[in-house]
Amino acid sequence: MVCVGFFNLNAISSFGDDDKNKRGDDKKNKAKREDTTKFAINNQNLIEEEDESPDTTQILFPSHDLYAIWDTVWAHPYNFNESFKMDSVCIQLVAPGDNPFVMPFKGGKTSVFGWRRYRPHYGTDIDLETGDQVVSAFDGMVRLAKYCQGYGNCVIIRHNNGLETVYGHLSKILVEAGQTLNAGDLLGLGGNTGRSRGSHLHLEFRYLGQALDTEDFIDYEKGELKDYCFTLRKADVENKYDLRALHARHKRDVGYARASKGGKYTPVGKGGIYRVRSGDNLGKIAARNHTTIKSLCKKNRIKETTVLQIGQKLKI
Ligand SMILES: [Zn+2]
Repeated sequence: MVCVGFFNLNAISSFGDDDKNKRGDDKKNKAKREDTTKFAINNQNLIEEEDESPDTTQILFPSHDLYAIWDTVWAHPYNFNESFKMDSVCIQLVAPGDNPFVMPFKGGKTSVFGWRRYRPHYGTDIDLETGDQVVSAFDGMVRLAKYCQGYGNCVIIRHNNGLETVYGHLSKILVEAGQTLNAGDLLGLGGNTGRSRGSHLHLEFRYLGQALDTEDFIDYEKGELKDYCFTLRKADVENKYDLRALHARHKRDVGYARASKGGKYTPVGKGGIYRVRSGDNLGKIAARNHTTIKSLCKKNRIKETTVLQIGQKLKI
């Protein structure tokens, strides 16, 4: 498969031996890297401004050409829609010279990517016992290793391929931010911390902060990657991965469908305009649209005693 796009042009240049050597330096300079929260990487300026060798500890985060920040506090500090300006990009998951992909934990899937119990579930849940070893999927560097709400004990790794992987509900974290890891290196022990019912690993793949379905990458039966390249299309994000937007669209569609069948649910139309239906009164309309009679009267310049006409438009 031929890979095109800005990511690969940049990323391939950072996969070479030179990068491996620099990553070796990173291990020595780990302590310096821990205070780099929200440090904006400006590789170009550093090189231009300093006559001597630049401070390499500040420019060697994996995929620094793709991400503007390195944040060790917030799990997801990125804005995908602002960062991703292309129609599609091919992500080369394992480049020549990288260690091969390793399944973080080989276990049965217990929950999949999608909308679940009133909230989005951005990962795939893998069954394990508390204390089971969890390993890094690809080569990379630990960006975050701490307790996070929802995730519990959590490790997030930034990879050379541009992805970030998230490992949630760990019982024990065995790495720290700034640490380089090879694919297959131990990062923590499985557990049941955070928003979790029973021991399992919550595994996410993200690109510029956008969660993607790990099942589009991994053949869980075999514990292998489905392909060495993954093409991410903006249309797929809109139709498949942006769970909140999808859910909002679904709710709206269901609402209109019910309304057209004369059901109870009557949504507010575009621009906050409500069309009065048979049996409506101001009290009902206010309650249904989470507002007050007083507010309705003020916005529509009507009185509480005004008789409503079927089909009349009201500002909500
Ligand atoms: Zn989960």
